[in-house]
Amino acid sequence: MKQRTLGKTGLTVPVLGFGAMRLPEKDQKVKLKASMALIRRAIELGINYIDTAPAYCRNLSEEIVGRAIAGFDRESLIISSKNDERKDADRWWEHLKTSLKQLATDYIDIYFFWGIKGREFAEGIAPPGLYEEALKAKEQGLIRHIAFSFHDEPKEITPIIDSGLFEVMLVQYSLMDRALETAIQRAHSRGMGVVVMGPLGGGRITQPSPIMELLAPTPKGRANVGLRFALSHPGISSVLSGMSDVGMLEENVDTANKLSPLTSGERERIEYLWKERERRTEIGCTSCRYCEPCPQKVNIPFVLSSLEAGLTWGLWDYAKERIAFLRGRPDLGEDMSACDLCGECDEKCPQGIAVSELMRQAREKLGGESN
Ligand code: SF4
Ligand code: SF4
Repeated sequence: MKQRTLGKTGLTVPVLGFGAMRLPEKDQKVKLKASMALIRRAIELGINYIDTAPAYCRNLSEEIVGRAIAGFDRESLIISSKNDERKDADRWWEHLKTSLKQLATDYIDIYFFWGIKGREFAEGIAPPGLYEEALKAKEQGLIRHIAFSFHDEPKEITPIIDSGLFEVMLVQYSLMDRALETAIQRAHSRGMGVVVMGPLGGGRITQPSPIMELLAPTPKGRANVGLRFALSHPGISSVLSGMSDVGMLEENVDTANKLSPLTSGERERIEYLWKERERRTEIGCTSCRYCEPCPQKVNIPFVLSSLEAGLTWGLWDYAKERIAFLRGRPDLGEDMSACDLCGECDEKCPQGIAVSELMRQAREKLGGESN
């Protein structure tokens, strides 16, 4: 497996890391033996970097990773995990200790402040906040490198990078999601290691779509282009892929082993799709949820992101599957069928999105009767 240096950590990581967030399941239960066998096979194939988190795979991911790596030389592996505490030092330590126990290890190589927003960094993590706790844990040898993963508007990441506090960042990046492209370059130029999640757009790249088929006619071909695109960014050291079977693992390993630069034709097609996406409508919902509560309990960002997948990328089957999923999960809210076009959300959206008009379009294109 090809390796790259992970910024100032000095670690050498494989270009493909194992994301332990989509381990094999059957009947909504994680298949323990198959999951452990998959992780072990990944290590045998040269993927010695495994990323996990307490809540992945019905809260079982860390424990499965811990059991899978038993018997391997711990020093030969790079394990990362995450902590979602934003304010309370005692709870932050409890989370860390639980992760160490579940992973059955004395230390975690890369420890993330998990999915932080700019405001959370400024108010609860930056010194004298929880970052000080992470430093203590590092001094005690419980974690080796302090990192953050990010889920916020792109402009919010700059102060976090510029703080100089972190050695690694983990961000979304794919040929369908390039909002953090310059932030990755910025982090790289400051010596940070950058790891990417969602290099295949959360699996969207391989879904049926006449637009995406411009990249390559088959799902396998598109996955190949997607991985090579993410790894063509000079600032990116490794991409995490959530793999759920040996076939997928071996395919991705094959691509990573034969990693070749994008051809000029592939590059042109990727740029064409990216530039054209605005013409095809990018809704621009940031999932801030300022438009809520909706009187009809519509899960507005979920419906809009589903509609956007169809409008922007031609992923209509995928969009309909998401809506079907939402219909099976009343705890997540209602789909667009419940919308009575009252327009309250239009007035509250800071992005100026005409949400009610988009709800009407969602009903038309994704199914669902009006009230
Ligand atoms: S529609 Fe507007 S207010 Fe609602 S989540 Fe999206 S961006 Fe935020
Ligand atoms: S227009 Fe629809 S989605 Fe928006 S607040 Fe009214 S009912 Fe909810």
